[in-house]
Amino acid sequence: MCTALLIDGELVAGNGRVEAIINPATAEVLTHIAEASTEQVESAILAAHHAFAGWSRTTPQQRANLLLEIADAVARQADRLARLEALNCGKPLHLARQDDLNATVDVFRFFAGAVRCQTGQLAGEYVPGYTSMVRRDPIGVVASIAPWNYPIMMAAWKIAPALAAGNTLVFKPSEHTPLSILALAPALAQILPRGVLNIVCGGGEGVGSHLVGHAKVRMVSLTGDIVTGQKILQAASKTLKRTHLELGGKAPVIVCDDADLQAVVEGVRNYGYYNAGQDCTAACRVYAQAGIHDRLVSELGAAVGKLRFASKRDADNELGPLISSRQRDRVASFVERALSQPHIERISGAAVHSGPGFFYQPTLLAGCRQTDEIVQREVFGPVVTVTRFDDLSQAVDWANDSEYGLASSVWTQNLDKALQVAARLQYGCTWINSHFMLASEMPHGGLKRSGYGKDLSSDSLHDYSVVRHIMARHGEHL
Ligand code: NAD
Repeated sequence: MCTALLIDGELVAGNGRVEAIINPATAEVLTHIAEASTEQVESAILAAHHAFAGWSRTTPQQRANLLLEIADAVARQADRLARLEALNCGKPLHLARQDDLNATVDVFRFFAGAVRCQTGQLAGEYVPGYTSMVRRDPIGVVASIAPWNYPIMMAAWKIAPALAAGNTLVFKPSEHTPLSILALAPALAQILPRGVLNIVCGGGEGVGSHLVGHAKVRMVSLTGDIVTGQKILQAASKTLKRTHLELGGKAPVIVCDDADLQAVVEGVRNYGYYNAGQDCTAACRVYAQAGIHDRLVSELGAAVGKLRFASKRDADNELGPLISSRQRDRVASFVERALSQPHIERISGAAVHSGPGFFYQPTLLAGCRQTDEIVQREVFGPVVTVTRFDDLSQAVDWANDSEYGLASSVWTQNLDKALQVAARLQYGCTWINSHFMLASEMPHGGLKRSGYGKDLSSDSLHDYSVVRHIMARHGEHL
């Protein structure tokens, strides 16, 4: 296993604290990684700072060619990277290979193309005797800080647009899941000019805070928890850094009486529990109209009860464990508190899985009310709630009555109704008769406390660049 950090083009062992990296499916130690020391974080930032002058002046074509090389390197190593991802997250290997790795390759390829297709704003004479034009330029050194739920894919979401836009980077993976990006580091070191991309490992309070507080870091991009986002905003305010925050979610799923019941059951079964629900867009908060409610609860309960996990045969598994015992216990305590309410009914699951690893049974709870903690707060585990509604307008109000604003869905066979509901939902994304689907071409990001800043799409390139006005005074009149 590669455990070296990437600093100024060199693969170096960390000089900081040594941390055990755990396989959450077995609770076994996979390896140990020495985090970056304070001096190494400093070196990484300075390397990115010095590399910026050259990298920011490369053409989109030159950057695109290197991003395509990275995409090819990921594609060539996809089996190996997927194995590491599966080990480090406990994910089913076949899903890591098919979903996470294919998406990672596509993201690098997309941004390689997108940066060459950017279109500009108008240029012209807005003041007599002067010509104005608008440029879009890179920002400088970006510190990118990633979570543990999709480590290599999140790395791609952060690295590809920032590099494409001409920035240099210090990337910090989650302290729980550094293995896949460290395995790619030797290839990255060969492909990119030194200092353009640096990878440092470490915890949030140590390495993360150092990055956020550093004066030479001009932008911080985080995918993580709301509380982490708030801390980063506070720390970044001291040096007025740009911030790009992708925070939590609690996606509402509005199911109308006229929805295709089988499609809803399949959709929630697949996308409420995918990645053990450790997904900020997970279809976890179902609002079911009275006419379909009982059938949905019964059929979904049966389907959830058949979800396959913790089997020794990887190909059988549909979901993995929680990332840590702490996360599993957090999920268990949410469900315990929910079930202490007399109106909430356990339909399926609701227990820690006996056996090794940090598995929690896929859980369906019915009878939940809008004000219940389990409806309001992000669980980030394999837990879906169902709340009954009569009036569609009420369901839309409840869906919007949330601190989160990342993803949502509406299920009905009436397109007119679907479009009206979609227009009223205050979420970064609304799927109609579907959930969870992403496309590299389309923006992903939230409203409200789910943060701001878009990943994927040309909007992300905009977030990683600044608009500048160039104004030239005319000489002799022609
Ligand atoms: P987390 O906030 O605990 O950690 C995320 C990253 O931030 C880690 O690398 C961590 O080391 C770092 N960090 C923590 N404290 C820091 C600090 N004070 N300064 C700098 N860095 C710090 O989140 P997590 O537990 O890894 O991931 C789960 C969370 O991420 C969930 O809330 C989930 O909804 C959210 N998430 C959001 C999206 C999205 O696209 N909106 C995608 C995936 C995950």
